[in-house]
Amino acid sequence: MSNKVAEAKKVLKDVFGYDSFRPLQEEIIEQVLNKRDTLVIMPTGGGKSLCYQIPALMFDGLTVVVSPLISLMKDQVEQMRELDVPAVHLNSSLSPEAYGYSVRQVQQGKAKLLYLAPETLMMEKTRKLLEQVKVDCFTIDEAHCISEWGHDFRPEYRQLAEVKKDFPDAVGLALTATATPRVREDIKKTLELQDEQEFIASFDRKNLFMKIADKKDPLNQVLDFLYTRKEQSGIIYCFSRRQVDELTYELEQEGYSVRAYHAGLSDRNRAINQRAFIRDDVNIIVATIAFGMGINKSNVRFVMHYDMPQNIESYYQQIGRAGRDGLRSDCVLLFSYSDINKIKYFINKKEGKEKDVAERHLDALVKFMESRECRRKPLLNYFGEDYEKENCGMCDNCIASGEAVEDLTAQAQKLIKVIQEVDGRWGAGQLVNILRGSKAKKVLDEGHDQLESYDSGREFSKAEWEQLVRLMLRQNYIAKGEFSVLQLTEKAQEVMQGIESVFGKLDRTDASIGEDTVQRTSSEIESGHNKELFEVLRAKRKELADQKGIPPYNIFPDTTLMEMAFYLPQDKEGMLTLYGVGNAKLKKYGDVFIGAIKNYSKEHGVEEKTKSIRKKVKKQKSSEKHVVIGDSFNEGHSIDRLAEEHGVKDVTILKHLQTYMEDGNQLRLEGIKEASELSTRQQDDVLKAFSELGPELLRPVYTKLDKKISYGELRIMQLYYLADED
Ligand code: ADP
Ligand code: ZN
Repeated sequence: MSNKVAEAKKVLKDVFGYDSFRPLQEEIIEQVLNKRDTLVIMPTGGGKSLCYQIPALMFDGLTVVVSPLISLMKDQVEQMRELDVPAVHLNSSLSPEAYGYSVRQVQQGKAKLLYLAPETLMMEKTRKLLEQVKVDCFTIDEAHCISEWGHDFRPEYRQLAEVKKDFPDAVGLALTATATPRVREDIKKTLELQDEQEFIASFDRKNLFMKIADKKDPLNQVLDFLYTRKEQSGIIYCFSRRQVDELTYELEQEGYSVRAYHAGLSDRNRAINQRAFIRDDVNIIVATIAFGMGINKSNVRFVMHYDMPQNIESYYQQIGRAGRDGLRSDCVLLFSYSDINKIKYFINKKEGKEKDVAERHLDALVKFMESRECRRKPLLNYFGEDYEKENCGMCDNCIASGEAVEDLTAQAQKLIKVIQEVDGRWGAGQLVNILRGSKAKKVLDEGHDQLESYDSGREFSKAEWEQLVRLMLRQNYIAKGEFSVLQLTEKAQEVMQGIESVFGKLDRTDASIGEDTVQRTSSEIESGHNKELFEVLRAKRKELADQKGIPPYNIFPDTTLMEMAFYLPQDKEGMLTLYGVGNAKLKKYGDVFIGAIKNYSKEHGVEEKTKSIRKKVKKQKSSEKHVVIGDSFNEGHSIDRLAEEHGVKDVTILKHLQTYMEDGNQLRLEGIKEASELSTRQQDDVLKAFSELGPELLRPVYTKLDKKISYGELRIMQLYYLADED
């Protein structure tokens, strides 16, 4: 490793708080430090900014960054200031005082980074200013704006190649997330770059889970999706302003924290709503495609397409706004043929070549959506990249089980029967509980455990029954009455008589947009951190951010808070080992967050885990059965599924998990809870009994709870109790 690279690594850790470079960052930084012009093509969230920020800190002179969007510029400068990196910006939005301050910082050689709008750079006074100082690096951010083929061509960008010649000692660095080969070529030609000066990162965004669902009952699909994401931040894209307003209204009615964004709102209202989103004042933005440019928010956890995107490129761009922090994020698109027809209608109004291109784009998009292979293949292929893996594990197709339409008649009959038994006076929730033999209070109180249908439908999970309900509503076998009670239609009689069969496809990945796959595909830290403490820290962060008037993610990204809530560092040393904690942030925020963690630890009797110990634990890979089972359980496999896979009973799996835990490993708590059929209230009763009587013996607990809860259930809760104590 060259000296320069070693030094760059030190800056990475000390200033930014990161342990290692992302792919290509090291090579790019080395090239820039050697003053060789460079073109960087990297997807959103890939880490482009670091490619010039680190050299900027290492060069003697100034690094100029041309950036087309004032909001992004401002955000970057704020981020740099949080890291104590001297950065300033010049653009038309600044007050004369602020402008003067930036100019003086540059003149006095205090600023290391100067962000500029292209039109500001073209101004005579700016050129004069820059003549007075040594410019070591000339960076063109969002370099695709150079190209007329790009989606946001900026004529001033064309002149940048000329301007750069005024700084013969400065290395040129152009960056973009635009993937199409044509735009790349255009940038290279304009900036007169050679092939070997080009760095193209993979466009695979590994942390994005992609799902394309048939749009059947879109509002309910959205509500189902949001239900398990109450505190999360996300964007929902709609085709029209009207749709945006309608959906915003519906979500407000449901109690969601949501704002609208579209071209029909005044500039001011748009800015207010965008700001509220960025600052975590609201969780959800429902928007037309007008929204997204210049959004640097790192903790966008989902992007939903309520309506279809225009083409693959914009789809990729829009979902790319999710998960910049590298945490798992969900991208769901609702697909319908009638939406395609809407788009076709607009295309038909076009003419000639424009129409041809639009048609080609639409065809590619439809093919992508209909495809049954891994979503990443066609998507990356579109950008000229081969996706090698067979199964990405992060798209609907890769995790989907059985295909094709199923005969659901038997279950449909069960559902119809239970509706008959309760005289059509109950809604889906209660009916599903009856079918699944739930001991929920409402079921017992109503005496519904006495019905013939009670416990007759364990073969379906709750989510599957709910889907069947929706499917039967759509196919008019049942109808919703007042207060959402479910009632039978005439068609239902025919199903009961066996004249009519019910066919459909249960989307078994549906639940997977929910908890299941989140667990399965997220890291140990994402799934294993202390959620309660995370919320405490999030509130603390919000408080600090509001005091300073900056977005919360500029204080720490979610990732850092999650690491805090996982490792529970109690001092500065421990804090400094975490992702995203460098010297400056440690100094500014270390005490506040350490204080909060300490308080929490004391109150809840939990202790710090050090990073190094965790790593050691992880290394003990072994083929012992309990280890294999424990590991795959923690990766997200359910107890049921493990029992099936290993051809043993559930209780055997529980025993293995217990041994695994006794080895000093942690267990995924939610996974244990999932295995229980008890209501939350009952679970709490059992846990209370364990804490009173001790967790070792089951019989006393069984007796104490009036023998109402089976040993099977007690065993599950015993494991939970022990794992939670750990
Ligand atoms: P881009 O500009 O390519 O969209 P950013 O430069 O904004 O991406 O980086 C995305 C996020 O990843 C930022 O929060 C950034 O601090 C973080 N990041 C960049 N490089 C690294 C790294 N080597 N290790 C950890 N996090 C990184
Ligand atoms: Zn896949």
